[in-house]
Amino acid sequence: MNELVLTLRQPAQIGDRAREDFVLSTLEHVPGTVVRGAFAASWLARNGVSAAGTPERAEFLRLFEGGVRFGPLLRPGTEFLPLSVVTHKYQAKETCTEVEFDRAVTGEAPLRCPDCGSPLDQVKVLRGDRPPVRRRTSVSIGESGVARRGVLFTRETLEVGQEFRGAQPRTGQQEAGQHGRAEQKLPHR
Ligand SMILES: [Zn+2]
Repeated sequence: MNELVLTLRQPAQIGDRAREDFVLSTLEHVPGTVVRGAFAASWLARNGVSAAGTPERAEFLRLFEGGVRFGPLLRPGTEFLPLSVVTHKYQAKETCTEVEFDRAVTGEAPLRCPDCGSPLDQVKVLRGDRPPVRRRTSVSIGESGVARRGVLFTRETLEVGQEFRGAQPRTGQQEAGQHGRAEQKLPHR
C-alpha cells in the first residue's frame, strides 16, 4: 500500500474545539477531513475556482466531494482503539481494575466502570506514546480587539518535524482491491 507521509514544517495546532478552560488543544493525529482540505486547497491554488458545468468543476467534485477517500494520518507507533473497545469517558482512577473493556473479548461490556462509576464509552482514542506538545499562554483578545483583563488562553501546538503517516487517498475501487488503471488521480504537489 502506498503511504502518504506528512512532516510539519511549522508548529501546528490541529483543529480541536476551544474548551471552556481557555485551552486550545491540538489533536494528535491529522483527521482525513484535514488531509482532504489540504489537497483541495492545493488544487484550488493551482486551478482556481472553476465555474459550474466545466470539466474542472467536475474534476474538483469527483476528487473532493465524493469518490476519493481521505484517511487519517497517524504518528508512527500509534493506532486508534478498535471500535469494539469501550473506555473510561473520564480519567480512570488508580483503583480501577480495568481501564478498557473489549467487547470482542468479553461479549458485553458494562455501561459504567464498576470501580469508579465513570461512564464507559466508545471513544475515538489514540493508543501509543503522546507527542511532545508545546503550550503557549497569551492574553485573550475580546471581540473588540482589546485584551480582556485577567483572561489568558493557552494554545497547544505540535512541534516542527513531527511526522504523520497513513494510506494515500484512494477511490472505493482501489480500496476494494480491484485491478486496472485507477480512474481518479490526485494532482501531484
Ligand atoms: Zn473506573
